[in-house]
Amino acid sequence: MIDFSVEPEFQAKLDWMDRFVRDECETMDLLFPESGVQFDVSNAAARRHLRPLQEQVKAQGLWACHLGPHLGGPGYGQIKLALMNEILGRSHWAPTVFGTAAPDTGNAEILAMFGTPEQKQKYLGPLMAGDIVSCFSMTEPQGGADPEVFTCTATLDGDEWVIEGEKWFSSNARFAAFLLVIAVTDPEAPLTERMSMFIVPGDTPGIEILRNVAIAGDFDPENGHHAHVRYDKVRIPRDHMLGERGGGFKVAQARLGGGRIHHAMRTVGLCNRALDMMLERAVSRRTKGAMLGEHQMVQAKIADSVIELEQFRLLVLKTAWLIDEIEAGRMKHGAARKHIGMCKVAMASVYANVVGRALELHGSLGISLDMPLAKWYGGNMALAFADGPTDAHRSQLARAYLKRAVPAKGLFPSEHIPSRLARALERYPDAREPRPIAGPAAETA
Ligand SMILES: Cc1cc2nc3c(=O)[nH]c(=O)nc-3n(C[C@H](O)[C@H](O)[C@H](O)COP(=O)(O)OP(=O)(O)OC[C@H]3O[C@@H](n4cnc5c(N)ncnc54)[C@H](O)[C@@H]3O)c2cc1C
Repeated sequence: MIDFSVEPEFQAKLDWMDRFVRDECETMDLLFPESGVQFDVSNAAARRHLRPLQEQVKAQGLWACHLGPHLGGPGYGQIKLALMNEILGRSHWAPTVFGTAAPDTGNAEILAMFGTPEQKQKYLGPLMAGDIVSCFSMTEPQGGADPEVFTCTATLDGDEWVIEGEKWFSSNARFAAFLLVIAVTDPEAPLTERMSMFIVPGDTPGIEILRNVAIAGDFDPENGHHAHVRYDKVRIPRDHMLGERGGGFKVAQARLGGGRIHHAMRTVGLCNRALDMMLERAVSRRTKGAMLGEHQMVQAKIADSVIELEQFRLLVLKTAWLIDEIEAGRMKHGAARKHIGMCKVAMASVYANVVGRALELHGSLGISLDMPLAKWYGGNMALAFADGPTDAHRSQLARAYLKRAVPAKGLFPSEHIPSRLARALERYPDAREPRPIAGPAAETA
């Protein structure tokens, strides 16, 4: 049975979150708008405002909701998390206020899954408490989506691993207390066993941030937070490997699925906010003697946005349900993979369409930085690339479906109507009276 209702106790939590995000987190967005400021633990003014808000979230039992009880979180499950993330998606500070900001969420998950008790105590504890932030350092300048071309290596020297190489778009590297770095340890092994994951403390000598690359929506082109990092003979103790030797790929995969679906859930929230803006504008501004909303092309924009958003939301909810079923042991591991890929692909286009239309309806005001829409619009491409390019997911999804496709047996496709009809008539020869022959010959007869 499919049921979209929410029990009253949980609805009360959602209502609290909705008020809190609008009143407090969106206020944080206005007071501290710089890109990446949420991760800068040294920003005293922002932290002073942040702490009491995080305490309120904890008091409500809403802190780090992405983690299950076995990983130290409240464990609401993915469907409830989807509804919560829809609310958080309105504000760029909200995930930090609620202890669910990427990349710390995924990093916390893999530390909880693969970390030793010592690693968990040292890194997971403070990360979960929101005292520190972390970085995931995987993409390399010569290739992000293709691990085959990764060249950053880690070699064992006595009791230490020595990491050498460059990474690209290591978000928050400059704020991170530790970086999770994937490096080639076994170059001769098959791809999926070639790399290992390491925990590298942020103050280790040899970590050189070459540039902090800025992206669309950032204020200062030289002061972004996606780092080009050089690991110049960075030495870390042998016990700083996360997971097994050669298991880096597996560890990385474990964090990506969750990240993609959380982004998708939050995209629903941001698009809802853009839709609200579109509606307000449509009933507030007149042109050519009518309200914008009375013009059919504006109506089409609104209708298309509502429909695309609803379709996307349902896809996200179904994906969340699949993940919950897997967690509960009712479905096999990997059963949600295709749907997570679908969310990743749909997310970028729904986001671009809905936010783009909202921007268009606001005209010059929309593209100005007096409104948040232009910044959001720039963020669309970031969503398309982060956690793997959309095209790669599109292609993977198609290949998964092609794998189960069967070639047609004869010359014509299996749905060819005359062929099917011929077979049907073989089974039921008396189903049809012989057809009268049309045309002049029939008329003269
Ligand atoms: C905002 C943001 C934050 C990020 N944060 C991090 C981070 O914290 N840590 C980290 O390690 N990385 C991070 N990344 C990097 C991200 O993972 C990569 O951008 C992504 O994997 C794509 O790699 P690339 O940029 O090298 O693009 P490329 O791999 O060069 O791809 C470029 C284009 O080529 C095409 N293409 C590539 N592969 C395929 C394929 N298999 N099939 C079909 N077409 C394909 C697509 O059109 C794609 O858009 C971040 C990226 C962004 C935008």
